[in-house]
Amino acid sequence: MQHHEATPPLAIARGEGAWLIDSAGRRYLDAISSWWVNLFGHCNPRINAAIIDQLSTIEHVILAGCSHAPVLELSARLAKLTGLDHAFYGSDGASAVEIALKMSFHTWKNTGRPHKTGFVSLKGSYHGETLGALAVTDVAIFRDTYAPLLRHSHQVMSPDARQAQPSETAADVARRAAADLEAWLVEHAATTAALIVEPLVQCASGMAMYDPEYLRLARALCDRYEVHLIADEIAVGFGRTGTLFACEQAHIRPDFICLSKGITGGYLPLACVLTTDRVYGAFYSPEARLGFLHSHSYTGNPLACRAALAVLDIFEEADVLAQNRAKAAAFNRLLEPLRQHPRVRHFRHQGMLWAFDVADTGPGFAGDVHLAARENGVLLRPIGNTVYFMPPYIIDSDAMGLMAKIGLSVLENTPTSPVQRARTVNFQV
Ligand SMILES: *Cc1c(COP(=O)(O)O)cnc(C)c1O
Repeated sequence: MQHHEATPPLAIARGEGAWLIDSAGRRYLDAISSWWVNLFGHCNPRINAAIIDQLSTIEHVILAGCSHAPVLELSARLAKLTGLDHAFYGSDGASAVEIALKMSFHTWKNTGRPHKTGFVSLKGSYHGETLGALAVTDVAIFRDTYAPLLRHSHQVMSPDARQAQPSETAADVARRAAADLEAWLVEHAATTAALIVEPLVQCASGMAMYDPEYLRLARALCDRYEVHLIADEIAVGFGRTGTLFACEQAHIRPDFICLSKGITGGYLPLACVLTTDRVYGAFYSPEARLGFLHSHSYTGNPLACRAALAVLDIFEEADVLAQNRAKAAAFNRLLEPLRQHPRVRHFRHQGMLWAFDVADTGPGFAGDVHLAARENGVLLRPIGNTVYFMPPYIIDSDAMGLMAKIGLSVLENTPTSPVQRARTVNFQV
């Protein structure tokens, strides 16, 4: 609250494509897709029209004992896209994670394995901030205060490619991390229900990227040791890493996939957990206590489902993934001077997501960069000393040029020591 007094929130009056416009008419490029949810811009005409159309028929109805066309169509289309045939809805990312964790445990319980109650996740993982999701999250600033409320879970080595020794490739790091997972499973598989991972990019802990080899090995280990694999694609799903879902790059199918954020193009809260016939079968019983009793009032909301259907239509009709490849190549060219800059460490890129670490930063770097970029009309939120760009897919080349320019200014103008910091942090592009 005190920080907000020093840095008042932007008063956003409207949005237009990749741009946010405040009440004074100033424009800000939404270079972080409004916390990773927006795919096709603000006030997208197609998504607007779908929601308005839905409003004139049914805005919401209970999804217990009732159904509606948007949720049926969305379930069928997501099943086809993920290869997972059964969908369960929630209202946001954290609720999707809760659903997957509960459903995994309950599947084992229903199939005679009640001792499989534990969860394993990666070091630096982020899965949301409700108590169950936070229990498998490993980001100290979110977790430590609430540690006494959280059920214990175990964290294994992250495959973060930045840990590569000089002689190692990213795939070598992935193999080392998989060996660490196996060492845990050898001892604890009998009491472990699931491994939960963020496929390819651990976003919230600083855009840590890793080789798909890890997902292949983790899938094989989960099969061998009879542990579910939960893919939390809440941030990376819907094209962010270059494929519709990140798991596709490893050619694996998880037991559960958690989707949210981009699912409605950043319009309305919605989450979906998709799972296998096998998990579905474990709950197929006349006895209520064997069913999955988990409900959210707004589950499968028709307006949100219509927004999600419009998003899938855009993906199909506009060949978004191919267009994104061309945009990413162009942005990579614009970022070349930044990549070569002496302060840049671990420049990395996946699909429509770029990140780099900045060397010799003083305290307060992330806040300084946020403010300075904002002064220059770009919305950025670095994580520690990691600066990232995660723009909406409709970004154009002028806006990419602006992001590249701001990125370079960050490197040239943010102070590298407390002494320099005392001078000034403001800069103009
Ligand atoms: C954002 C996020 C969540 C939580 O989603 P909310 O909608 O914020 O609750 C969970 N997992 C990952 C990987 C995320 O990035």
